[in-house]
Amino acid sequence: MRVKQGELLDSPGPGALVRVALNRPMREEYTYFVPPGTEPAPQVGMRVAVSFAGRREVGIVTELPEETDVPASRLKPLSAVLDDEPVLDAQLLKLTHFMASYYACSWGEALSAVLPAVLKREGGRRKVVQLRPAEGVGAEQLAQLEDKHEAQFRVLRTLLEASGPLERGDLLRKLNVSPSPVQTLEKKGWIVAELVEAGLDELLAAPAERRSKPAQLTAEQEVAVGALTARVRAGGFEAFLLRGVTGSGKTEVYLSVIEEVLAAGRGAIVLVPEIALTPQTVGWFRGRFGQVAVLHSRMTDAQRHDAWRMIRRGEARVVVGARSALFAPMPDLGIVIVDEEHEPSFKQGSTPRYHARDMAVLRARDAEAVCVLGSATPSLESWENARQGRYTLLTMDKRVHGGQLPSVEVVDLRVEKAEGPFSGPLELALKGVLERGEQAILFQNRRGFAPVLWCRACRMVVRCAQCDSSLVFHKRHQRVVCHSCCEEQHIPSACPSCTAPGLRFLGDGSERVEEAVLARFPAARVARMDSDTMHRREDYEEVLGAFGRGDLDVLVGTQMIAKGLDFPRVTLVGIISADGSLHLPDLRASERTFQLLSQVAGRAGRGELAGRILIQTHTPDHPAIVQAARHDYLTFASGEMELREELSYPPFGRLARVLLEDEDSSRVEQAGASLAAILQEHLDPAEAQVLGPAPAPMALVRGRHRAHLLIKAPGRGEGLAPARGILQAFAERNPRPRVTIDIDPVSML
Ligand code: ADP
Ligand code: ZN
Repeated sequence: MRVKQGELLDSPGPGALVRVALNRPMREEYTYFVPPGTEPAPQVGMRVAVSFAGRREVGIVTELPEETDVPASRLKPLSAVLDDEPVLDAQLLKLTHFMASYYACSWGEALSAVLPAVLKREGGRRKVVQLRPAEGVGAEQLAQLEDKHEAQFRVLRTLLEASGPLERGDLLRKLNVSPSPVQTLEKKGWIVAELVEAGLDELLAAPAERRSKPAQLTAEQEVAVGALTARVRAGGFEAFLLRGVTGSGKTEVYLSVIEEVLAAGRGAIVLVPEIALTPQTVGWFRGRFGQVAVLHSRMTDAQRHDAWRMIRRGEARVVVGARSALFAPMPDLGIVIVDEEHEPSFKQGSTPRYHARDMAVLRARDAEAVCVLGSATPSLESWENARQGRYTLLTMDKRVHGGQLPSVEVVDLRVEKAEGPFSGPLELALKGVLERGEQAILFQNRRGFAPVLWCRACRMVVRCAQCDSSLVFHKRHQRVVCHSCCEEQHIPSACPSCTAPGLRFLGDGSERVEEAVLARFPAARVARMDSDTMHRREDYEEVLGAFGRGDLDVLVGTQMIAKGLDFPRVTLVGIISADGSLHLPDLRASERTFQLLSQVAGRAGRGELAGRILIQTHTPDHPAIVQAARHDYLTFASGEMELREELSYPPFGRLARVLLEDEDSSRVEQAGASLAAILQEHLDPAEAQVLGPAPAPMALVRGRHRAHLLIKAPGRGEGLAPARGILQAFAERNPRPRVTIDIDPVSML
């Protein structure tokens, strides 16, 4: 028997049918009927509670269908309607629907990226738990745990090292431990957990006006702002790629255009790569516009929800945030800006694996808004879109203060033998900076002291037993650590494979760089910024604040210091080794290296003082290094594009990556082979090519074997369309091995 809406009732509410999207991997939404007397009447975009597989779940109404194929006897009732009005508008529903089909996930999974966590469950707000050591707890307790309760030991050690309470969720994620060691420590009374509910005031904290409006735009800024405001005034969609060298004043362009957008009564969303790492940028936006809603990953659920409601009510007309801020429910959106658009962090690493930059363009188009993608080193995808005329290119080649781009010298480590992290030229340059009372940034994208433990007898590198990664020596903790699974061990006194004594610690991690500076320049005031030293947002702010005030001379750090920092007294940037990222087995290794070097180099010479960059490398002739040293994006891009075109790699083709993971390696192999066979059978090789399966570059992580398979489709990837359905069906049918589908992957590891 088919149920028709009309047969049951005409009046709103009871008897109607609803389609509901649930945050589960399923290809279709489910239909429920609305029992008589349900209040309020469900509408598209409202949250509802339903029972699914015996559990009560929250879903979103996506449709009020007239009829359904589900037999009436099997149709289940809606349990409750949770909202008085839709929490999602038609545009966001449309965007998430597209995301589900493009990224091969369910609509409910795509919607889960949009809603604040509070709205994804029933019941009230969940507060956050903050942890701190109990009064009087210290080294003594730590010693009792050592070698007996590793996880508890690491939790307590981290809490003792932190400058204040840490959020439980953050801590568990960072240390990669389960909640139980925390509970045990609580029971022992060694740590204290506190429920906190941060209020709105922190969200709206009065801005410190850190950057005043410049008296005059530069000529290049004028041109860019002119083009953008013309489009804002005329209305309608247009996507722009703003390629502006570091220090050319891109932020000022964003601020000026947003002023125009606000004057037109419309709202703005600004996406930045890692909000926790860009306190300066946030300060600039707050300084200019006051009521700026900031959305970042370290906010509590309640804060996020408050911000979300303020935005919906039109009380905050500017939103600055990381990736997910793209889905802020901004009414009458006038502009979406993606700063540092080339950053891989705009791609979400879990389902739905969307790319916020690409979705930003779509959201702007749906909203008839302007989209600006800004970068000194645009992704080749965006560059190609600009070349094809899909995006309007705006260029700013000069630095604001007329300053030269800093001069870059490449130090060939094959010739200039470095003792420890510093070659002769870098040490000399650092000496000069310290004598003149200027500041230096030293960049080394590996944390720990020595990244490699090497046995000179059997010439083996010591690896983690559970992962495909080498163990890293951390000197302060006197431990070796796997950066993949976070397991720690005592320093082995002998080679685990041949038992010869005397392992050597090779390579320079950020910890060793810091030590080396202090060893050579004992009077220097040095701070290190990496995830071993920075536990809380306040830590960054403190270190950056001190550096800004001139209380520090040298800042050593990992990629945490690559982005957005604007300190006029920095005259030297030393890149300890440019080689690490160059040799990753990834099609974008060269592009990433170029981008990272350019970005780090851009931290010097931003004020009146000239800047100097030294790049240390064993491969001085690599195009990524040569062109980064020349600040020559165009030459780098055109060379790299040729290589990509030959191989039909992005942007001349699209990729889908399937990752298979399981403890049992034969299961991974079999699943990989059978998936490849299914794909070969159904895909036209002219439209989509199947590569693999092959072991993933990280073939073992936490005891799980990993294989991957790539599907490559030329052009704009139409050939991937049939693959999506096949992959989703395969993933649904096979609970093991775990299958992960990644469309347009940004990492192949
Ligand atoms: P980018 O983001 O392109 O690297 P920024 O926007 O951070 O560059 O600007 C670099 C510096 O120049 C900042 O200190 C900024 O305050 C300053 N600046 C930007 N535009 C102007 C201008 N028109 N006049 C004077 N200073 C400016
Ligand atoms: Zn490991």
